[in-house]
Amino acid sequence: MAGGRGSHAKRVRIRRELFAVERVCWLCLEPLDMSITDPRDPRFVVVDEELPVSKGGDPLDRSNCHLVHNRCNGRKGSRILQRGAFADIHMRGGRTETSRDW
Ligand SMILES: [Zn+2]
Repeated sequence: MAGGRGSHAKRVRIRRELFAVERVCWLCLEPLDMSITDPRDPRFVVVDEELPVSKGGDPLDRSNCHLVHNRCNGRKGSRILQRGAFADIHMRGGRTETSRDW
């Protein structure tokens, strides 16, 4: 595949930009905790494409990329959702799970 290395560099740059400006999860609108470094943590911050790559979305288009929680990304799957699609979920019974010992 051509340009693999170049697109990776661009991905990294987009990721850095997103981390610099986005402060809440695009899907649930809850604050993001950038200090979490464990990819298995449900609150780990990941980059998500608004229009999935599998549906023709561009992973290198800054405006197509947003920061979301690991758990929100998993919940979303390959669906196309609007900003704040999960914002009401924590209203009905979504307690913080910070007390749980991972
Ligand atoms: Zn979220």
